[in-house]
Amino acid sequence: MDEDYLIAEVLAQTKTIAMVGASANWKRPSFFVMTYLQKHGFRVIPVNPGLAGQTLNGEICYESLSAIPDAIDLVDIFRRSEECPALAEEAAAIGAKSLWLQIGVISEQAQRTAADHGMQFIQDKCPKIEHSRLSGLLGLGGFYSGTLSSHRASHRQPPSPRRNGGLAQSQHIETLSIHAGNRPDAATGSRITPIYQTTAFLFDDCDHASSLYNLQEPGNIYGRLSNPTTAVLEQRLAALDGAVGACCVASGHAAQLVALYPLMAPGKTIIASDKLYGGSITQFTRTFTQFGWQANLVNIHDLDAVHKAVSKEDVAVLFAESLANPDGNVSDIEKLAAIAHNAGIPLIIDNTMATPVMCQPGKFGADIIVYSTTKFLSGHGNALGGAVVDMGSFDWLRSANYPSLSAPDPAYHGITFAETFGKHGFITYCHASVLRDLGPTLSPMNAFLTLTGLETLPLRMRQHNENAEKVANFLNQHEKIAQVSWAGLSSSPYYSLAKKYLQHGAGSVFTVSLKGGYEAGIQLVENCNLISHLANIGDTRTLIVHPASTTHRQLTSDQREAAGVGDSIVRLSIGIEHADDIIADLDGALKNIN
Ligand code: PLP
Repeated sequence: MDEDYLIAEVLAQTKTIAMVGASANWKRPSFFVMTYLQKHGFRVIPVNPGLAGQTLNGEICYESLSAIPDAIDLVDIFRRSEECPALAEEAAAIGAKSLWLQIGVISEQAQRTAADHGMQFIQDKCPKIEHSRLSGLLGLGGFYSGTLSSHRASHRQPPSPRRNGGLAQSQHIETLSIHAGNRPDAATGSRITPIYQTTAFLFDDCDHASSLYNLQEPGNIYGRLSNPTTAVLEQRLAALDGAVGACCVASGHAAQLVALYPLMAPGKTIIASDKLYGGSITQFTRTFTQFGWQANLVNIHDLDAVHKAVSKEDVAVLFAESLANPDGNVSDIEKLAAIAHNAGIPLIIDNTMATPVMCQPGKFGADIIVYSTTKFLSGHGNALGGAVVDMGSFDWLRSANYPSLSAPDPAYHGITFAETFGKHGFITYCHASVLRDLGPTLSPMNAFLTLTGLETLPLRMRQHNENAEKVANFLNQHEKIAQVSWAGLSSSPYYSLAKKYLQHGAGSVFTVSLKGGYEAGIQLVENCNLISHLANIGDTRTLIVHPASTTHRQLTSDQREAAGVGDSIVRLSIGIEHADDIIADLDGALKNIN
């Protein structure tokens, strides 16, 4: 059975929960979980020998499972993994239907005991997180529920696979691009995600407000941290990459800042590709150094150099683009992930140019994926935005290198994000701390436009690629063109990497170098009549720009050469007009070069 179905089934069958290891301290995760579950209609009976006889949240605490006089559906365990086999036997003896081990609690023996006694078994998860995730009570998280439904959301109950109003599932990107994260509005039935154009969200009472501020309960507080329209977009983007969650922000650059902030500190170093988008190179090497962060740019195709660079002690992260802007070179993500993980650091991939339709970096080992949603994801040149997508694959608790996630956070009464939120710790931190304190929040209107754009992403990407192939082949044979960088040409050094990592083609952004040099480049740009001269990519319209005088102007000439944008280079972003019209415009513009 798929795990989400199992979880939905266990929650639907459960009325009474015995919580082993329940705490009376309101700052402990078990107290949060107990309070949340009670609020959502479960009876929770605490079990803790040290508190036996006391009353916790209105329920008497028992010293052991066998001491509870009532029937128990689910036993939820907040104890060390070694204690679980004996507790599993006890749970079986009292006739529990299900056994649930909290985040970080894992026991194969308990699993076998559960199976032997016909108990359903879940481990390394939190019922509060799973209940809120499946109910669509996303709050700050942007967690992906893994399920789709055309029925109204119920804000009190997760859907059950056995009930009407239940779940559908799909792994197909065409379906996920339209449905993931969205359910018809609970109050109005609105089929399209509404624009929640509000700054703040009502508290039920002071207790509810403090639960939200404690991160005890999922829910919206203030628009700088989260918004329901944006939460749908976050779920959808997480779905497209097969990730656990996402955090959407105001731009692609903001996404880079938000992704790196939890991992960096003064004196720490980012190892990044020297072929990144020019704006990213400026952000990393100039602006980030103001925070005391170092950025070391390496030739990402020289794997020995990458290995050497990440082996230094102060290195916190490896960063590259799957398909690079502007010259379309392709990173060997699998090898980069292995190098990063050997060094104990995560790999972040900027997947803006490829999008999940062409490449899902997480499948090749990337831990975090960032996007400028401004480009292909929203796709119509009308909404700036960015996203941080977390695969939930990196173990932040394994070393002391990422204290924002692995150490108690004094700004949140000492909770440890990676412990309390497990695989969702990084993305929760992005919302709860980084958006709260740095504030680069996406507007709900732009989230809405991006959601609308996403619905046609797979269709658009196929057309972008089909057109790009025709245009690249035309230019490659043109007498005034010295070189075309498109990785789909068999002469490209990235041809085999493109075949391995990219689907549907080699992308629709590439550069051409003109035999006539700088002057010819300028004339090509200015002679176009259909193609727009502007600094963007990934629009439905075909776009053209001369990087050396615009997008890459701030770089040194060495950095420009490394990024593949010398003075004679022109960048094209091929749109989805008819390919013949794009070619005719370029043909005319080339003919008119003096
Ligand atoms: N990453 C890549 C690959 C880009 O091309 C861009 C912008 O061109 C960015 C990041 C930055 O995105 P934004 O302009 O949305 O901040």
